[in-house]
Amino acid sequence: MTGTPRMTFRWRSRLVIPGAFLSTLLAAVPAAAQTPVPPAGVPAPAPPPAGRDRSLLLPGVGGALQVWLVPEASGPGFTDAHCFVVIDRAAGEAMVIDAGSKSAPIALRKAAEANAKVTLLVSTHFHIDHTGGNAFILEKTAAKMVAPAKEASLITGEGLGAAEKKQLLTGSTPRIDRKVKGGDELKLGAHSAAVIEIPGHSPGSICLYFAAQKLLFSGDCIFKGSIGRLGLPQASKTHENFVAALRSKLLTLPDDTLILPGHGQATTIGAERASNPWFQETGREPKGASAQKGKPAGPKPAEKGKATPAPAKDGGKK
Ligand SMILES: [Zn+2]
Repeated sequence: MTGTPRMTFRWRSRLVIPGAFLSTLLAAVPAAAQTPVPPAGVPAPAPPPAGRDRSLLLPGVGGALQVWLVPEASGPGFTDAHCFVVIDRAAGEAMVIDAGSKSAPIALRKAAEANAKVTLLVSTHFHIDHTGGNAFILEKTAAKMVAPAKEASLITGEGLGAAEKKQLLTGSTPRIDRKVKGGDELKLGAHSAAVIEIPGHSPGSICLYFAAQKLLFSGDCIFKGSIGRLGLPQASKTHENFVAALRSKLLTLPDDTLILPGHGQATTIGAERASNPWFQETGREPKGASAQKGKPAGPKPAEKGKATPAPAKDGGKK
């Protein structure tokens, strides 16, 4: 997903962080290294280092945890993909979520700068913009590779055909140490994240929910104003169950839960419940709504950055 980031963002629920500021941060990521001016009382993020490191320390996010956003920016079609580094500085442990090929070295640097060992490496699903840096990190660290149980063979590439591999997994992950499913828990120092499994965009996509921090890493399941794209190999054929799972597993979280998606701007559960067209009580899929984001590598140039309109009627439901 590319395109000019929208700089406006309406927050519909209270946040524990200055929402507009974070939104600006995330929206600014694909554009260039620029340091927004935070409101009074909010610590300024570290200035983006020189070169290709455009990572951002997200101010006020995660409580005692430090959360870095590391843009992937590795090529056409997924230039806005986000890798996240969650650091428990007290325990000296870090978790890397959705490492891409370009973001992986920078993610390791962020952990090292915090004197934290990368103990967990998580891919929310098997698409390359969320897995392309796994091999690098596994080679350089003793991190345990965590993946959705239903996608383990897709992430290693064993379960993919040649064409699917080319489109979705040009850099395979050498091993999976822990296969997780909904209800499992991941420990990071003294903190924990619940695994929420939502098939749809991919067969076993997971989100990570840090309940104490009211923080959700949603991968490509939900975005600001949108949901993960279907129509990819191994994805659900229709939106019905996908949307139902998003409703029952995510919209039931507290309104002020901050969503950090795999692409695009941050949002909240409350904001998505209120305004995401996929969750309005119309009984039908939203006209013109985008379910495209999270598109992995390999799009045709003409498709790049364009939304795939949802069916105007219930046409997608057979
Ligand atoms: Zn994806």
